[in-house]
Amino acid sequence: MHCTPFDGERCIKCTRCIRFCDEVSRTGELGLFDRGGHSIVAAFPGKPLDNAYSGNTVDICPVGALIDKNFLYQARVWFAERKETVCTSCSRGCNVTATVQIGTDTAVIPDGTTLTDAQYTAFLAGDLYVNVHTLANSNGEIRGQLTGQGVGGLALLSGAQETPAVSTSASGLATLVVDPATSDIMIAVVTFSGLSANATASHIHQGATGAPGGVIVPLTLGTNIATAPPTAAALSTTQFAALIAGNLYFNVHSTAHTGGEIRGQVRVP
Ligand code: SF4
Repeated sequence: MHCTPFDGERCIKCTRCIRFCDEVSRTGELGLFDRGGHSIVAAFPGKPLDNAYSGNTVDICPVGALIDKNFLYQARVWFAERKETVCTSCSRGCNVTATVQIGTDTAVIPDGTTLTDAQYTAFLAGDLYVNVHTLANSNGEIRGQLTGQGVGGLALLSGAQETPAVSTSASGLATLVVDPATSDIMIAVVTFSGLSANATASHIHQGATGAPGGVIVPLTLGTNIATAPPTAAALSTTQFAALIAGNLYFNVHSTAHTGGEIRGQVRVP
């Protein structure tokens, strides 16, 4: 679902969003409930605003009462720019305009995408690749082969996992993938949001759950993201063993919590 619960203090009850869902998406999730000063726009029970046009529903709200989840606390409109691109939702390849955050061009797999058995087999065999097309190189400007051979896991970051625990609404999601043959770091990325203050550093540490540990990989900070620099050294034998044992963790420091605001243990399946 794209929308957050709406900001009722901004809503002027113009009912554009309701008409849009009735007449354009024809899904009718929204209604105006209660009377007078108690009127509120809401989704019908059990019918979340989750149609293919829910992002457009946000767009047509004249006062910003409906807010896109992907935008909330992540960006400001003056950090956004429009770019011509190609829709990936089906094989038709329609030209579309995407709004992206300046300096953080990203491409994401659409929600609900699943690999077929044949595609999963191809992934494990290293036969899938990701590429990026540009107007200058319409057949693809950069390409990278996906490998199913890496060892790694995910980490969900929170203040509760810090030592000592930190009270914060910030959260993060990290991925660490290592080449089992060479222990080279293939992917190390953490995305985060909701920090109490500006991020100052992010690292991969070695330490068991509930225990602090030393930094083994300093990450390069971006906007709500930190990644391992291309020059990051391979994990040592001890560090690789710690990864397998679940004794590596990501954290993110902020000016409000210089010792670390959120932390997440890497869980290797
Ligand atoms: S479009 Fe925005 S302002 Fe108008 S009723 Fe919907 S939420 Fe309220």
